[in-house]
Amino acid sequence: MAKINRQLRAEGKDVIDLSIGEPDFETPEFICEAGKKAIDDGYTKYPPVSGFADLREAISKKFLRENNLHFNASQIVVSNGAKQSLNNIFLSILDEGDEVILPAPYWVSYPAMVTLAGGSIVTIASSVESNFKITPAQLEAAITPKTKAFCFSSPCNPSGTVYSRDELKSLTEIFAGHPRIVVISDEIYEHINFRGRHESIAQFEELNNRVAVVNGCSKAFAMTGWRIGYAGLPLEIAQASDKIQGQFTSGANSMAQRAALVSLNGDLTETFKMVAAYKRRRELITDLMKNTPGIKLNHPEGAFYFFPDIHFYFGKKNGDSVITNSTDFCTYLLYHAYVSTLSGKAFGNDDCIRISYATSEEKIREAIRRIEEALQHLK
Ligand code: PLP
Repeated sequence: MAKINRQLRAEGKDVIDLSIGEPDFETPEFICEAGKKAIDDGYTKYPPVSGFADLREAISKKFLRENNLHFNASQIVVSNGAKQSLNNIFLSILDEGDEVILPAPYWVSYPAMVTLAGGSIVTIASSVESNFKITPAQLEAAITPKTKAFCFSSPCNPSGTVYSRDELKSLTEIFAGHPRIVVISDEIYEHINFRGRHESIAQFEELNNRVAVVNGCSKAFAMTGWRIGYAGLPLEIAQASDKIQGQFTSGANSMAQRAALVSLNGDLTETFKMVAAYKRRRELITDLMKNTPGIKLNHPEGAFYFFPDIHFYFGKKNGDSVITNSTDFCTYLLYHAYVSTLSGKAFGNDDCIRISYATSEEKIREAIRRIEEALQHLK
């Protein structure tokens, strides 16, 4: 899809990109200043593998202040993005043949990370009808003697689904009966949450010392290029992550760590401005697409994605373009509407597509106008 996108752009076509997985905002000025100052202050040497002591301390305080979670600094590992935090965890805990349960739709990188670490994935299906939430009964049914971990994101990429405190509690009750299972809670979209207070599954006592909470600066502070992620971990997983990271990459970029320190100690005014813009765009798309024929739109409560069910169009065609799956649907939109979206297949649900709204309201309006026009020709 990315190749076709590039090709169409090279031909001068005005492609609107609704496939983007990063904020369309700039990193706030006070954070950029901290990065520049770090260079002037001489932060140009190898940093400690798990991160600067003051940054780990600040992350420990952030977990307590914002999430009421107790991770001391020795349980924090700062990494080259949350992506590396996740890889460290999978490599730390998985042995060959261990199973990791992933509720689908899941973030596209989880299966590859699990496989790379020798594990295999077990998925739990969900649909737009349940707003892509799984039930405790589904979770229980997916657990086997080989289950080592459960990994999910809330707010979720790709669906924008946010689990409530009660829903997390009811999943916790299942884990209570399976004390071997490590829960990996990817909370990178914590602040992009339209429900209000973020709820972490790590808050429940039943899960003490077996939740790995993954977070980072990429989404909340529009810092994707700085590559700073972090995790609050059971001590043994923190120690193993330190060893793995020490051999793979060493510590995360030292200037970016200094900037991350300032972002985590600062207030969230800039973040909340971005969240307000995402929320407006969510309303806009909900309004514009509520009557789009054949599209079952979900109700995202966080992140910056919709994950509509489009399977109504399977079997329909326009000339030589025949839609048999979500990839065909996205390819059709790219060629016939010049709008780029992502097929749900890579996220574990081939009935859906991911629409990102990390782009301007003007582009969103035009993209949806074009999508609706192109869909009219599918018969
Ligand atoms: N987890 C989820 C659910 C994501 O969507 C992303 C990025 O898209 C990441 C983790 C990785 O974030 P980072 O930029 O910190 O590596």
